[in-house]
Amino acid sequence: MTNAFVTLVTNADYAMGATALARSIRRTGTGADIVILHTGGVERPSLSPLEALGCRLVETDHLPLSDAFNERHGKDRLHGSAPFTKGRKPDFHTPLDNFCKLRLWQLVEYDKVVFIDADALVLKPIDKLFAYPEFSAAPNVYESLADFHRLNSGVFVAKPSADTFAEMLAALDQPDAFWRRTDQTFLETFFPDWHGLPVFMNMLQYVWFNMPALWDWQSIAVLHYQYEKPWEKHHPKADRLGPLIDLWHAFYEDRDLPDLGSLPKPGGAA
Ligand code: UDP
Ligand code: MN
Repeated sequence: MTNAFVTLVTNADYAMGATALARSIRRTGTGADIVILHTGGVERPSLSPLEALGCRLVETDHLPLSDAFNERHGKDRLHGSAPFTKGRKPDFHTPLDNFCKLRLWQLVEYDKVVFIDADALVLKPIDKLFAYPEFSAAPNVYESLADFHRLNSGVFVAKPSADTFAEMLAALDQPDAFWRRTDQTFLETFFPDWHGLPVFMNMLQYVWFNMPALWDWQSIAVLHYQYEKPWEKHHPKADRLGPLIDLWHAFYEDRDLPDLGSLPKPGGAA
């Protein structure tokens, strides 16, 4: 039985993210494959660092969805009907691309996969997740306790299956279906009995300034840069996320890493 970490890349920006992610996964010493699902929108040179890291590049297509579905989930339409109020998405983020994640259910050569967004870093070994059931995900926590009701689709455990993939396609493109947070809303609906992973399996960057009591560098297994990305030249939250952004660049540039225990604590406390 073989397992894989899987991420998705549809443009050069997310290829940068995936490069840092793949380096971070390699540093955990895992024996699992790292699969990069990529669409035709990514030029070859952006993928070569991933190839050099021994990742398996799997070219994939957008899903066969109706024109009406694609229009409802187009960037301007989606941002108009369901505006983001807590943070901002970069210009290189296309909501429709998110649905390509579902293609991982077609990777039936693997027994189990762990999907990780390209804007995340793995800070501790997480191979034990391959023994967790489908569908396991961590809560979408970055503001308050109420967030524990919802899942975040940046990290999840799934079992590839052609049947499941077909069922998903049928459930996804219903007349007038509007998935306001794209794959995340869909997966939460498709797997209403989702299993909860610890919040440390998908620690969202806004916890750093919104819920500092939850922050513990030693416990964080996956750090997820939701909303603004650490490789954006400057972004509205950059001044508040300095140590997290520096850590991302250390992985991206393959520098020596700081001992996580010695990193600053949130709120500037020693
Ligand atoms: N993604 C992509 N291209 C896009 C949008 C998304 O490749 O235009 C992939 C990428 O793996 C990304 C994930 O889908 O990490 C989800 O998007 P993102 O992480 O930007 O959403 P957020 O975590 O901010 O909600
Ligand atoms: Mn993400």
